[in-house]
Amino acid sequence: MILPIKKEGDPVLREPTEQVVDFDFEFQTLVNNMIETMRANNGVGLAAPQVGVSKRILVCEFTAEEDSQLPSFPLTVLCNPRIKQASKEEVNMVEGCLSVPDREILVKRPKSVTVVAQDRYGNPIEIDAESIFARVVQHEIDHLNSTLIVDHVQELNVMFIGTGSLGEYSLRELIADTQYHVNAVITGEAKATIRGQAIETNTIAQIAHQAKIPLIRTERIRDEAIIEKIKKINPDLIVMADFGQIIPKEILNIPRFGVLNIHPSLLPRHRGPSPIQQTILDGDKMAGVSLMLTVPELDAGPVIAQTAVELIGVETSSILKDYLGELGAALLLNSLPYPEISSRFRKTMKRPHLLVCLLKKMAR
Ligand code: ZN
Repeated sequence: MILPIKKEGDPVLREPTEQVVDFDFEFQTLVNNMIETMRANNGVGLAAPQVGVSKRILVCEFTAEEDSQLPSFPLTVLCNPRIKQASKEEVNMVEGCLSVPDREILVKRPKSVTVVAQDRYGNPIEIDAESIFARVVQHEIDHLNSTLIVDHVQELNVMFIGTGSLGEYSLRELIADTQYHVNAVITGEAKATIRGQAIETNTIAQIAHQAKIPLIRTERIRDEAIIEKIKKINPDLIVMADFGQIIPKEILNIPRFGVLNIHPSLLPRHRGPSPIQQTILDGDKMAGVSLMLTVPELDAGPVIAQTAVELIGVETSSILKDYLGELGAALLLNSLPYPEISSRFRKTMKRPHLLVCLLKKMAR
């Protein structure tokens, strides 16, 4: 029987769970129903509180698709599980949860775990799990401890700096992602005036207004007053795209994760001032986006991630800019706060047939 899944907000997900002591017929039926419910929902794991039963039982199973880089693991039923040992090495991965629909959260967990438990008949078992298996088991044990993935969210304060349209997608994605709090936007371009009426032509400013994010306009970011403001806002990270002003060293030193620049070329190619136009003028077969850590010397910072796209030769610079803006947003969100390739990357790609992914790991 397929059971209804309890969603975030249901108190049963937060109640303490009891040890399983009777492995009787009624219990076997519950286990069967949990397996059926997990499979019917295309889940890779399910814990008893998710079907409204406050008992320490989890089921999990993963069958990898052909192109998957993650290994399959067989159907596993664990009763009264306990993590006996966890690896020191931790990895990030985006997780979803049947009880928290439409949310994807980057969660850092030990890469491998040893779990002691009982099987569905009460026999003691010990399993060594790694990769996706370790992750699913830890996620489900979280449920048995009344914990949800939303409890893992660590909000990062981000400041966005940009004027041109390249950064639009990135700013929107940062605003939409609950793991980031965009606490200020700095932009350069002043309002245009048409027949005496001030017209907002800067889409970055428009997005900030709509999201009610404090906006700072400046033609001179190196002004002492602006630097003081940024110091007060104290962002953890600054994301910059299409800004056109040089960021002084005093600002580069403020955020603890530095200043990341979204550059619309496959650096080191086209370091100059108009990389998109240059890509087209030179008849390049490939275009791309680089995520670069900004350093005081112009265009000298290390590239921490890069993604490339094949061109078909009919692109205009405005189409390419829009496309690279979208690619840049996906690259950014998948490189933050740790440069791990996540499942979300593939999802965000709308034209995967054109794409060659060349993500590099950040050299730390
Ligand atoms: Zn879950």
